[in-house]
Amino acid sequence: FAKRAGGSQVHFFDAVLAHEEQQEQQIRERIQAGLANHEFLLAYQPKVDMLCGRVIGFEALVRWQHPERGLLQPSAFVPMIEDHELVEQLGDWAIGEAVRQAADWLAAGVKTSVSVNISPRHLLRPDFIERLGFHLGRFPQLHAGVLELEILETTAIKDFSAVADFIGACKALGVPVVMDDFGTGYSSLTYLRRLPVSALKLDQSFVRGMLEDPEDEAIIRGILVMARGFGRKTIAEGVESVAHGNALLALGCTLGQGYGIAKPLPAAEVPGWIAAFEQAPPWGRAPGC
Ligand code: C2E
Ligand code: MG
Ligand code: MG
Ligand code: MG
Repeated sequence: FAKRAGGSQVHFFDAVLAHEEQQEQQIRERIQAGLANHEFLLAYQPKVDMLCGRVIGFEALVRWQHPERGLLQPSAFVPMIEDHELVEQLGDWAIGEAVRQAADWLAAGVKTSVSVNISPRHLLRPDFIERLGFHLGRFPQLHAGVLELEILETTAIKDFSAVADFIGACKALGVPVVMDDFGTGYSSLTYLRRLPVSALKLDQSFVRGMLEDPEDEAIIRGILVMARGFGRKTIAEGVESVAHGNALLALGCTLGQGYGIAKPLPAAEVPGWIAAFEQAPPWGRAPGC
């Protein structure tokens, strides 16, 4: 009897897995159709210099305006395509859309930069750099540095030499690469030293905890010292309040991004937001800025 029960249990789980796989496949087909139907859009979250009270750029974050399910956040669909060719299509669309938006803002007198998140599978594509050149070439009025790419620390560890080549090739095109969610991937200092990333983005978990947890603060201090030694910039994500900004400024971390500054905004709100922020910067403006 036990054997029979076990046997039917296996069939049961097989059926569940098959059903899940079928559902995910259906969602992927919807994503493919959604790309063709222009259902994806980018929201833009400001990155600021808290010391000088200036906006330094925006992170482009993908959203899916689903016809039946409403506005979906990336956690609802990006994980499902990370291991599929679709994530390359979505990423390529995001780069094209971000530079188009930067060119639109420039035409309206708003000079700013945008960063785009790139999935591991996408950046390893042999034609990535060629496509990057193509997107930038469409807008010769833009300086290459208006586009920045964010890659995960965990990606860099997994495929070190390919990622090092990728970063070098982007840099040669004038596109800086930043290491996202830094501090969560346990990358060794030796690795970091050999990766030509322009900046480290401190993971929001440390920033969120730094006011209560001295160990989180110690991790941030350590990363700041190391980044300085290696000549890399640092930016803190997860700046949820003015107090977080104050604590970061006290440690010498002047660049930040987070809900305490602004949530991701629709593109149309960006020019007005920049003007309002720079008119009355929450941390003031240090002398000499
Ligand atoms: P990420 O690149 O680390 O982006 C930061 C995420 O943290 C964003 O969520 C942002 O809205 C959120 N966030 C910003 N400030 C705060 C804060 O102060 N507190 C809290 N609790 N959260 C904050 P979002 O937009 O849901 O994006 C989640 C992740 O999805 C991103 O993490 C990124 O890994 C991925 N993603 C977003 N857009 C794209 C894309 O175009 N392509 C790919 N491949 N991945 C993307
Ligand atoms: Mg990011
Ligand atoms: Mg991040
Ligand atoms: Mg993240």
